[in-house]
Amino acid sequence: MFLSVGVRFEANVEALNMVETAGNYGKHRRVPYLVEEDGKLKTVYVPAISGESLAHAYQEHLVREALSAGLPVCDDCQRGEFYKSMNKVHLGKKVNPIPDDPKAIEEAIVKACVVEDVGGFLYAEKPPVRRSSAFQVSYALPVKSVALFATSEPQLHARHAQMDASSKKGNASEQMIYYVETGTALYGFTFNLDLDAVGVSAITSKPVLDGDEIKKRREVSLKALFRMLSSSQFGAKLSRFFPVGGITELVVAVTDHPFVVTSPIYDDYIEKTKRRLEVLKSFGEESFLVVAGEEKVPEEALKEAIDYLNEKGAF
Ligand SMILES: [Zn+2]
Repeated sequence: MFLSVGVRFEANVEALNMVETAGNYGKHRRVPYLVEEDGKLKTVYVPAISGESLAHAYQEHLVREALSAGLPVCDDCQRGEFYKSMNKVHLGKKVNPIPDDPKAIEEAIVKACVVEDVGGFLYAEKPPVRRSSAFQVSYALPVKSVALFATSEPQLHARHAQMDASSKKGNASEQMIYYVETGTALYGFTFNLDLDAVGVSAITSKPVLDGDEIKKRREVSLKALFRMLSSSQFGAKLSRFFPVGGITELVVAVTDHPFVVTSPIYDDYIEKTKRRLEVLKSFGEESFLVVAGEEKVPEEALKEAIDYLNEKGAF
């Protein structure tokens, strides 16, 4: 089964994805973006949050959910360092001696770590072994119709220290001034989860875990997504720049085979998603769609989708 979520969230004064510091200036990630104005396309630079940043957060939630369900997570992933068995040093901590057969390597990694099972890995040695991530996430980008209102603006901050002549050393300043570029936008992003890929070999397409373990792992994958969206624990600088705002709309589609909701950067994404699912229905494919907005809160919509998957026997 395949789950696809479109999320719209309003974030005022956020510093969720900073890219570089030049001197005392911390820059927000910005991307070129096509918008239409007066019937003409033009490119504007807008604040954005990378898919890497969102994926990192999701995997951190996955660690917590997996551990609390008593499922295995390797030491690197437990620390939030997602090296993912990239070389012999990291793989050697999971399986020793390291097998020669790619299938045996993949199986050992999948068994040892839920994060690498769900989030994929690349073992770049001989033989190389690659496992695609079962989840996909887009960049978070401003909603098209209001993208021109998205801003990134530096905010001045200062740190002070009390110093008298005797404690002052060298050029140490009593005051440090720094700028943090903050973004403000209505963002949209898409998150997909292929539940059929969990616990299944990417090489042979056969399960490498028993049915019960696969179901438990699917359940924690869903709980991690629920927790990430419900808690708004994603992105950087939350301790002082926790975004003011929250999820304004959310749509979840569950299908037997891969189907991705229309991107929430478009205003008609809910209507389009419904119409696209109707076509699938005409092919005899069952689907489930739930929308959170004015009537439902995001948690209710996500719970309904999880309940549907449970009824369908996904976990
Ligand atoms: Zn791991």
